[in-house]
Amino acid sequence: MAGKKIGVLALQGDVSEHVRAFSAALTGEGEVVEVRSAADLAGCDALAIPGGESTTIARLIAESGLREAILSFKGGIFATCAGMVLVAASIDDTRFAPLGIVDITVKRNAFGRQRDSFEADLVVVGLDAPFHVVFIRAPVAAAAGPGVEVLAEIPQGIVAVRQGKHMVLSFHPELSGDLRLHRLFLAGL
Ligand code: GLN
Repeated sequence: MAGKKIGVLALQGDVSEHVRAFSAALTGEGEVVEVRSAADLAGCDALAIPGGESTTIARLIAESGLREAILSFKGGIFATCAGMVLVAASIDDTRFAPLGIVDITVKRNAFGRQRDSFEADLVVVGLDAPFHVVFIRAPVAAAAGPGVEVLAEIPQGIVAVRQGKHMVLSFHPELSGDLRLHRLFLAGL
């Protein structure tokens, strides 16, 4: 984990919370940078794609010229909430094309519009005790391909997966004060 450079996509969404959480998880080794252009992404070992509004982030990714850079990025991607929608292979929304990096089929706002946020103690593969999670207008994966390891699932659908170096979460670990998933991700880089 020593000396890793973690980029946080800083176009829209809860960017500063991700910067804080990764800075804490790195415990002084490595650095966290905000990514707004392909040049910012160069040299990063990982990219965090924060929660926010996936339609807006998709538009800003296209406008900033980052789409090609993210598609050819060799590092790990840590995608949360709106990030889960963006990295999916397919989504239930025709307004933008997801990046198709992680082989999951994603349903946006899967908890219903009346239920803006939802908390739970989630059992996650690879963690020895449940993880307290906050879902905010969250997506779920309705299906995951054979190369995808499902880390957590609830009745609404799949809420945490890994595919190679990538980790995809429909909730917000950067808001829970619990850095175990960040550390698990960093250990896999
Ligand atoms: N509902 C949002 C979307 O689909 C995601 C919400 C979030 O990131 N907290 O873009």
